[in-house]
Amino acid sequence: MPTLDSLTFDNRYARLPPAFYRRLEPTPLTAPYLVSVCNDAAALLDLDAAEIRSERFLNLLAGNLVPHGAEPLAMNYAGHQFGTFVPQLGDGRAILLGEIINSKRERWTLQLKGAGETPFSRRADGRAVLRSTIREYLCSEAMHALGIPTTRALGIAGADETVYRETPETAAVLLRLAPSHVRFGSFEVFYARREHEYLRQLADHVIEEYFPQHAGMPDAYEKFLTEVTERTARLIAQWQAVGFCHGVMNTDNMSILGLTLDYGPFGFMEAFNPGHICNHSDDQGRYAYENQPYIGLWNCSRLAQALTPLIDAEKCNTALAKYEGAYLEAHASQMRAKLGLAQAMDGDDTLAADLLALLAEHGTDFTVFFRALATFDTTPGDSNNLLRDMMVNRPAFDAWAARYAARLASESSVNENRRARMNRVNPKYVLRNHLAQVAIEQAEKHRDFSEIDRLLQLLQRPFDEQPEHEAYAAPPPDWARGIEVSCSS
Ligand code: AMP
Ligand code: MG
Repeated sequence: MPTLDSLTFDNRYARLPPAFYRRLEPTPLTAPYLVSVCNDAAALLDLDAAEIRSERFLNLLAGNLVPHGAEPLAMNYAGHQFGTFVPQLGDGRAILLGEIINSKRERWTLQLKGAGETPFSRRADGRAVLRSTIREYLCSEAMHALGIPTTRALGIAGADETVYRETPETAAVLLRLAPSHVRFGSFEVFYARREHEYLRQLADHVIEEYFPQHAGMPDAYEKFLTEVTERTARLIAQWQAVGFCHGVMNTDNMSILGLTLDYGPFGFMEAFNPGHICNHSDDQGRYAYENQPYIGLWNCSRLAQALTPLIDAEKCNTALAKYEGAYLEAHASQMRAKLGLAQAMDGDDTLAADLLALLAEHGTDFTVFFRALATFDTTPGDSNNLLRDMMVNRPAFDAWAARYAARLASESSVNENRRARMNRVNPKYVLRNHLAQVAIEQAEKHRDFSEIDRLLQLLQRPFDEQPEHEAYAAPPPDWARGIEVSCSS
């Protein structure tokens, strides 16, 4: 088991031209304390339980210790924010420590979020608040456990340093991991500056390292764009299927690897409403739940535009045209799985869409309902009362249930088998805002981090019944209506 000293660094990004980043050291955090550390993420770096409890590891999390072999830097990028192009963004508070090759020969890039000002901070303070780091930490690991591509979270260091948002809060640093933190905006910055040679170097780097199957091919750039487009479409289909709302789908928050990236004012769908807007700062509802699939395509179009110096426009359009099919196919297969349908048949899309319309009509809790749907019994009688009681319009539910029962019968679905399958795709536990809020308040008020660890463990097994945690599966209590999440982080 390597210690921090034996991590093998291979900093490919730092070998790219200086225009891609600025080198700098993280700003130390005064008197840091450990908030939480994730064993599963630590295992990606082959770090053992003793090492991640050490003082040195805490100092790594805090940005107070730069490990041997690291070459810290802030990445340069641009991006479309709420539809408007912003030519200069960049890591204003994130610092890439370096890239590690683990014992499985996987590449993991270590990034501190909230590690102090950088040349890209503009007028902001370079810090992150404890509240937002807890949310990102828990949600990254929760998404991973749901089987959704995401950046990972290794741990959080907190400190008493005050950070001013709407109210004074305390500072914290999150250490996150991803094979790459390159964003769509990383390409857009060079396109906007007409620095086409840098654009090419970035594309070559990303293809060689992360899409090696296309490297050296005559149409490598087009294949790369196609694959990013398809990955993005499939990612968003997965978000829709669990009711995940990202909240800030700006192109600087879109991962070139199709990972869920930059958790801010995200939320999981509760009372089902296709127009749900999770981000309080999103007045126009640009990033509402039902818009996410379209925004995904719009964002891919911005990436395609940035790649036009490398790929001719017609081929860009061919690549973008793959989005819809990839999305629809992935979404249909996710919905089929949610309904426990083993085979694909005509009419499945309508069956799923009509169910969603029923949920919307009643504002039924999305996660609770789909989890409960596994109890559906195809034998006629009162056996489906649990589900029926979640709807006010009983006749409408009965009509849908009759169609569903017939559809299940058409593939001779066996209740028990279907139940087991459905419970592996419809989670019992998701990171509801109020669950995160309880953990945040305990951490802020009492420096008690036990609820964070409890939630982490719970969400690492989202599909398992955990009877001792039944209450964590319930829809939000009344007080949770007051929770507002915004871009402030
Ligand atoms: P986000 O909305 O978190 O994705 O951030 C958008 C841009 O603002 C990125 O360039 C961030 O680095 C930058 N940013 C956000 N918060 C801060 C902060 N507190 N200090 C410096 N830069 C920040
Ligand atoms: Mg961001």
